[in-house]
Amino acid sequence: MPLNIDVQYVKGVGPKRARLLKKLGINTVEDLLFYFPKDYENRSEILKIEDLKVGEKQTFRAYIAGSAREIKTSRLVITKIPVKDGTGAVELVWYNQPYIKNNFKIGEEYIISGKLQFKYGQLMIENPAIEKSDDVKLNTGRIVPIYGLTEGLSQNTIRKIMFNALKDYIGEIEEFFEENYLKEKGLMDIKEAIININFPESQLHLQKAKYRLKYQELFLLQLTLFLIKKSIKNFKNGIKFEKVDLKPFLEALPFKLTVAQVKVLKEIISDMASHKVMNRLVQGDVGSGKTVVAACSMYIAVKNGYQVAMMAPTEILAKQHYQTLKEIFKGSDIKIGFLSGGFSPSKKKEALEKIKNGDYDIVVGTHALIEDTVVFHKLGLCITDEQHRFGVRQRALLMQKGENPDVLVMTATPIPRTLALILYGDLDISIIDQLPPGRKKVKTYVIPSSMRKKAYAFAMKEVKKGRQVYVVCPLIEESDKVNAMSAEIVYEEIYKEAFKNAKVGLLHGKMPDSDKEKVMEDFVNGKIDILVSTTVIEVGVNVPNATVMIVENAERFGLAQLHQLRGRVGRSEFQSYCILIAYSNSDVAKKRLRVMAETSDGFKIAEKDLEIRGPGEILGLRQHGLPEFKIANLFEDIEILKEVQKDVEELLAKDPKLEGYSKLKNVLINQFYQKLSGIILN
Ligand code: ADP
Ligand code: MG
Repeated sequence: MPLNIDVQYVKGVGPKRARLLKKLGINTVEDLLFYFPKDYENRSEILKIEDLKVGEKQTFRAYIAGSAREIKTSRLVITKIPVKDGTGAVELVWYNQPYIKNNFKIGEEYIISGKLQFKYGQLMIENPAIEKSDDVKLNTGRIVPIYGLTEGLSQNTIRKIMFNALKDYIGEIEEFFEENYLKEKGLMDIKEAIININFPESQLHLQKAKYRLKYQELFLLQLTLFLIKKSIKNFKNGIKFEKVDLKPFLEALPFKLTVAQVKVLKEIISDMASHKVMNRLVQGDVGSGKTVVAACSMYIAVKNGYQVAMMAPTEILAKQHYQTLKEIFKGSDIKIGFLSGGFSPSKKKEALEKIKNGDYDIVVGTHALIEDTVVFHKLGLCITDEQHRFGVRQRALLMQKGENPDVLVMTATPIPRTLALILYGDLDISIIDQLPPGRKKVKTYVIPSSMRKKAYAFAMKEVKKGRQVYVVCPLIEESDKVNAMSAEIVYEEIYKEAFKNAKVGLLHGKMPDSDKEKVMEDFVNGKIDILVSTTVIEVGVNVPNATVMIVENAERFGLAQLHQLRGRVGRSEFQSYCILIAYSNSDVAKKRLRVMAETSDGFKIAEKDLEIRGPGEILGLRQHGLPEFKIANLFEDIEILKEVQKDVEELLAKDPKLEGYSKLKNVLINQFYQKLSGIILN
């Protein structure tokens, strides 16, 4: 029987329960077998009644010692059944389940799990899990799985269903790793793993099952990404851009490119000049000058008669790129357009028209660029900025607007290699590992909240010198639940006290886009001295006159995020300052914030962040658009991921077409066919 049949045919399911299971995303038998428990309860230790402790969840063996008593009140039927084991007696109690008494016979032996209570002078367990001692144990006497449920479905029911499914269908699950491979890597066989992830024989079995399934999940994704990268590299039907004289472009710049910029630019140019499709990530620390490198690639595409699309994750950033590019290309005949989701219908129509006619050479925009209505005249190069905010799918959608256009992805989030290989595993990676000369290091201070007033006074001095200030808070509005500074409160306070004579602006994510833009514009134009905001400003915002970044509750932010925030200042010849106000004295918090004061190297900070808090803190990981993992978790499984990457690289080096791994190859083709686009493994 195939695994892809409707789950209703599993013994004990039927159409009604199938509807409930569908709410959990379980449609087929296979879905069910891969619906892993979210937790476990160890009920494998079987105690004597005299050893049970009140208030704890425990398991014991006992026999039914008497007939059921029923107590009826106006609203409740209480059923009580006494059990004994020779060392003591306990009363089992159920509410409004009068039929339950028919399940038990006096003298029969059971395994019982539940929380022991002492009430009305009696030891009792309410709603115990109970199973005949000579029956198969699903709910007691073992490590018991706890599943995610939906209304109308109980743990007991789903355990029973899962048990039936395992019994009847486990044979259908096929192992796709070769036997030697399993042995060599110490991996549990897939059938054993699926059984043990649901009904673990022991803690060790559970551990091994988890490892196997996490390994498999990460392995398949990593392998797929590497294969996609390889296939794109070999894919010859891309655009072959002709060499372009870059002198006019370079000479119009107010500065010379750094060695690192030139190196990365060469890598891009070589990709563009080849008829293979470029699929390249440019990583560069904040302020390393990615924009101008991107602009240079745009110049090449446009001079070849192609259009360029540049997509940014927020309106603010898109607008800023649009303005920067207009500045960079101001002496040329290159026409730059902007497309926003917030355009009026008539304005939008006009922009779409110009994109379609080829009136715009370069179009900058937000997600609006990937809407169906956007049609390009001749799109040759797609650039996405701050890619960690976009998923692979969005990148693909943008690509489809042209005929195999080259793709450039830019990110200011330094990512340790392990993560980069899974987040961007399908891309070639270039790194701008140097900042433009003459940048003054941002002086960074970590201060306790008691020194807050001083920090604000210092900022005010900078304002008097004509500089501008950011104040970032973790919350928008005051909250009872979270004890942290909110932008609204700080805004009020600053407005009234510390910065009485300054112009203060407030910016946060809940404001309408038009208000956000207005505030940002005022800050860019110097009409606002102090911008109080949440982290909406974290990525990419460029206001060179700003020299102070104050972060309230700095301990609440990830290091990578703080690094991004700090990167908003230090963008001019003026000395800049980053003041991190810590409201926590915990060691971890101190240790983390000290890293900020000690180094300004984004890669080092990212590594530290990974070490101290795990990859969740790496900016934007949550929104990345990776496929949902069923069991693997990048927050916790970084060590398994490293293992996997080593193994995948070894495997591909040894057998690039997976010729000796036909079963694995089949799984990839079946599960990842769309992503693989049928262009590889042929
Ligand atoms: P990011 O990599 O963070 O996107 P940007 O591209 O915004 O950095 O560049 C930061 C600032 O550095 C900009 O004001 C830009 O004009 C300037 N810049 C870029 N490259 C150089 C360079 N080679 N020399 C001097 N300044 C540069
Ligand atoms: Mg940038």
